[in-house]
Amino acid sequence: MLNFYFDLIMTVAKHFQLKDDTLHAENVSLEQLAHDFGTPLYVYSRQALHDAWYSYHVAAQGRDVLVCYGMKANSNLAILNEFSRLGTGFDIVSGGELARVIAAKGDPAKVVFSGVGKQRWEIEAALDAGIKCFNVESEAELERINQIAGEKGVKAPISLRVNPDVDAKTHPYISTGLKDNKFGVDINEAPAIYARAQAMPHLEIVGVDCHIGSQITEISPYLDALDKLIALIKQLQSQGITLSHLDIGGGLGIRYTDETPATPTELLSAVFKALDAADLGHLQLVLEPGRSMVGNAGVLLTRVEYVKTNQDKHFAIVDAAMNDLIRPTLYDAWHDVEPVRPRTGSAPAPAYDIVGPICESGDWLAKDRALHLAQGDLLAIMSAGAYAFTMSSQYNTRPRAAEVIVDDQSVHLVRPRESLESLFDSERLID
Ligand SMILES: *Cc1c(COP(=O)(O)O)cnc(C)c1O
Repeated sequence: MLNFYFDLIMTVAKHFQLKDDTLHAENVSLEQLAHDFGTPLYVYSRQALHDAWYSYHVAAQGRDVLVCYGMKANSNLAILNEFSRLGTGFDIVSGGELARVIAAKGDPAKVVFSGVGKQRWEIEAALDAGIKCFNVESEAELERINQIAGEKGVKAPISLRVNPDVDAKTHPYISTGLKDNKFGVDINEAPAIYARAQAMPHLEIVGVDCHIGSQITEISPYLDALDKLIALIKQLQSQGITLSHLDIGGGLGIRYTDETPATPTELLSAVFKALDAADLGHLQLVLEPGRSMVGNAGVLLTRVEYVKTNQDKHFAIVDAAMNDLIRPTLYDAWHDVEPVRPRTGSAPAPAYDIVGPICESGDWLAKDRALHLAQGDLLAIMSAGAYAFTMSSQYNTRPRAAEVIVDDQSVHLVRPRESLESLFDSERLID
């Protein structure tokens, strides 16, 4: 019944849609937002954030599941705080992210710490905060954590991030579970490394984890990895090592264009089935979803500064650029582009490349889009909630965009646009 109700909500609730011929975020017009806050502007829907969280909540079916939001996808404090109030933990990859969790009133006891290059200060901060678990990615890191925990007179909770050598069937830059990736330890060596960890006095083994990639649309790569993890857990049991949780990482994809990604319910139903069949249903299941929690909850709003035609090629030059949204040029990623006030033309729409003002040929946001456009038009770059603002920079001395969250008819400015002065405030002349 709950599932049925949820599906119903999902089909009815579209968080960015046309109302009175103008694209809205919930019940606020994007035209109004551009007027009030300027462009480029990141606009998020609070309801979309809730719905994404809810899709995992429903999928958990009341079992012991901890969603540790993969916060590098979007780490605005307001978003972290929102998820934290819904009960999530966080998957962090730096000491900086831990500081954000604390600033957002997140619970450090629900934080897992991933990453191949944890520095001493980061390990110290995580031990001081009392995180749930270090997802350890090498033997050298185990030794460093053991050493630091010893100095502090505490036991560090650890899990080994294993590399199951499965193909997540996604873009090579966001595939992380193949044996030639830098992540984790070879799953075949894991039993020996766990044995060494068990002998280290200042470590407490609590789990095992893997994260095989991002924008994964099928569940088969997860199930391939899970088979190997189950075999590993059994092996560890025979060595007298018992775990309390299994972390299968993040990576579920979202719809950018016509993808039909597996849902959290499809994924977790299959995972529970495999765990129950292996008599491991008692393990806490930890998830680290990032993109699927925020990706479709945001758009990047931008204004057309100029339109021009070189030879036969049409360009719309907008005020957002690769410094605001690097995914297209970095991953060849496709984002839908929606006019905020669609024009209807009688002639066929020309194919535009949507480009920014930055002095790089790689500065493009979309290519070959059939649109009727004119100078001054507003465009929404869709599905820009994940790996968008967090990857933005100030290249070309461009202030980073403002961010707002829309909640029905209200708007919250959750990060003002950076001022020009702030970009070089801390720089110093030499004599
Ligand atoms: C980036 C990352 C995630 C989140 O991945 P998504 O594809 O955004 O769900 C989770 N875990 C780890 C270790 C990561 O590096």
